[in-house]
Amino acid sequence: MYTLVINCGSSSLKFQLIHTESEEVMAIGLCERIGIEGSKVTYQRKGEEKSVTEASMPTHKEAVKIMQKLLTDEQSGMIKTLNEVRAVGHRVAHGGEIFTSSALITEETLKAIEECCALAPLHNPASLTGIRACKELMPETPMVAVFDTAFHQTMPEMSYLYGIPYEYYEKYKVRRYGFHGTSHSYVSMRAANYLNRNYEGMKIVVCHLGNGSSISAVQNGKSVDTSMGFTPLEGLLMGTRSGDIDPGAMQFLMMKEDLTIAEMLDVLNRKSGVLGVSGVSSDFRDIMKAAEEGNHRAQTALDSFTYRVVKYIGAYAAAMGGIDAIVFTAGVGENDESMRKKICNQLAFLGIAVNEEANSKRGSEQLISTADSKVAVLVIPTNEELAIARETISIVQ
Ligand code: ADP
Repeated sequence: MYTLVINCGSSSLKFQLIHTESEEVMAIGLCERIGIEGSKVTYQRKGEEKSVTEASMPTHKEAVKIMQKLLTDEQSGMIKTLNEVRAVGHRVAHGGEIFTSSALITEETLKAIEECCALAPLHNPASLTGIRACKELMPETPMVAVFDTAFHQTMPEMSYLYGIPYEYYEKYKVRRYGFHGTSHSYVSMRAANYLNRNYEGMKIVVCHLGNGSSISAVQNGKSVDTSMGFTPLEGLLMGTRSGDIDPGAMQFLMMKEDLTIAEMLDVLNRKSGVLGVSGVSSDFRDIMKAAEEGNHRAQTALDSFTYRVVKYIGAYAAAMGGIDAIVFTAGVGENDESMRKKICNQLAFLGIAVNEEANSKRGSEQLISTADSKVAVLVIPTNEELAIARETISIVQ
């Protein structure tokens, strides 16, 4: 049997068909520019070349139909009918305070996800359309919603509350939620497993460093703090997002540049971060190249990024009263050995030492600290789809 994992963004739908027992990825697809002109589908069957085709997709409903066609097509498909799918796992961006774990999808669950739409107006409605379209096609197949926020619901009040009038939390649920939960949970658990230690007895800092980046403090198997907040804008400097900024600076800029709130947020979400500082690119590989060629702003962007990561790790070491392990994951965390080395070198005061040879390896789970390092440092490739598939199967069983 198979597990189908679906991730609906505001204008995209990603899917993976995973063999339930062997956990092999049998097919991968991406429907892009849904609702926008020039929509296209990328599809790849295990062991074969990628194909890209144009297809009209006014809504996520058409995208789901195209996914079905590709997966069951006589030539390109992996399965004869969707009946071979044991269960579907849907990634949902925001579960608010309602969802502290993944949930079997029922009418009640859908209503509750709808209630969280105000908190993620671009993402949750897309997930709901995707789920409903799937349910129409596969009414008998059990489906599970896996939330990006759920893992962080264990944060204590003191770390999730903003220092604003409490009534705003009571009235509107304005608080810190945190994101990338599936990844933080998966890699922290894998790290404990790799080290052969009891997950419930460890203090782990997870650095999910990609285009979107967040850091979390995982104590005794529970998230106790994380750098993203009410939205994924808070925290680290990211590819294009500013991370932490004084709201007073926003007001000043809005007046000087005559910007609306929407325009200001667009600057903070899409034109800031390492792209904004470097003026080169949001991709760390381009910025590194420019820095090597002597571009000062590119170097500053990299330094600012590293500095903020180090600050958050230090803060979480203090928050947990020490750390047993630091885990690097996602695009930058998994691939950029020089960034990892710089971060770890700045943390040498914690007794951290990097094993250069292990740090230069790629593509698999690695312990990159030396045997006498006081804190274990690991690289654990994240695999959100696999984590969602496992979670889905454990719930439907
Ligand atoms: P997303 O947040 O979109 O899921 P990813 O986790 O896929 O992002 O990370 C993508 C980013 O990873 C790219 O923008 C790039 O900056 C970075 N990256 C990928 N490969 C490397 C590499 N070899 N060295 C440095 N950075 C890399």
